[in-house]
Amino acid sequence: MTHFDLDPIQQWWPSDALPRLIAGPCSVETREQMIATAERVAATKTTAYLRGGIWKPRTRPDSFEGVGEKGISWMLEAREKTGLPIITEVANAQHVELCLKAGFDALWIGARTTVNPFTVQEIATALKGVDIPIVVKNPVNPDLQLWIGALERIHRAGIKKLVALHRGFSFHGTSIYRNKPMWEIPISLQAQFPEIPLFCDPSHISGRRDLLFAVGQKGLDLGMSGLMIESHITPDEAWSDAKQQITPERLGELIKELVVRHSNADSVQIENQLALFREQIDKVDEEIIHLLGQRIAINKQIGLYKKEHHITILQLERWKEILQTRTEWAEQAGLTPAFIKAYLDALHAESIRTQTRVMNDGHSTT
Ligand code: PEP
Ligand code: MN
Repeated sequence: MTHFDLDPIQQWWPSDALPRLIAGPCSVETREQMIATAERVAATKTTAYLRGGIWKPRTRPDSFEGVGEKGISWMLEAREKTGLPIITEVANAQHVELCLKAGFDALWIGARTTVNPFTVQEIATALKGVDIPIVVKNPVNPDLQLWIGALERIHRAGIKKLVALHRGFSFHGTSIYRNKPMWEIPISLQAQFPEIPLFCDPSHISGRRDLLFAVGQKGLDLGMSGLMIESHITPDEAWSDAKQQITPERLGELIKELVVRHSNADSVQIENQLALFREQIDKVDEEIIHLLGQRIAINKQIGLYKKEHHITILQLERWKEILQTRTEWAEQAGLTPAFIKAYLDALHAESIRTQTRVMNDGHSTT
């Protein structure tokens, strides 16, 4: 197991406030927007690092890809006006060089960069001999090894101020999240490398404002000590990630509403273990509910089929057979007869209701 030899975050983080907060717009858009955001964020007295994306990795080439180099001076000006240290995203060695030359206080590596060991190495090499904090977001795909690999590359370049930032993972299908949290992955990272400070990015996990609080709180409940949250003076008009950004004032309220647990190492470990179990339960429940949906969809098809062929809905023989086989399966699976009976009764009732609806469709008597 690699050991990360790091400067403890308490020694270099510019503020004692918890949660540690990196905030600011998704993208630097204009000088006025950057400076106004910085001033209003600073007024909330919650934020330790002011963020702003200068180069934006976008899925499609026609989206806004960041203002580029000229955004650097706007961020410097924002720092000068507010006193907040500044951080931006670097995606190649040239970005690193420009930011180092300009005197950025910290840099982050985005999720689309962490996936590529060549690029991470290029950035690591450009950071040799530099002593600033580097924040490494998880890769877009749920691959813990890739995340660890990126942290190792940056660490081996000599970086001693390192933060791992959890921003969720791409997935196929539907979810309330823009990027699924898959909490077991950051928890696993924390379990293996407790020396690496772990932060959470509720903005990119949620993709929408109304989930930010719950996701941020969950991150803190899992023992994460910092957050990155996107904030914009006019969120609805933001040039990128408009749906997930909040005003600086809302940010200030949200941070004050969060509960930061001051737990000892033991209780963090217990909580993390519990969180892993809960995560497994969530997954199984999600699968069960999907399967039940499929089960009822088949019932609908059967209902239609019975209707076409003039067969009655209730087939007693079939129901008896279902009861018998399922009770046996349940016993093998370690479930009590009472539980499986209650489940089957509920399922049967729903299946009859579904079939009745299908049968009556178009023949409503009411
Ligand atoms: C961002 O922080 O604006 C960003 C692009 O994030 P991610 O790399 O997590 O998608
Ligand atoms: Mn963003």
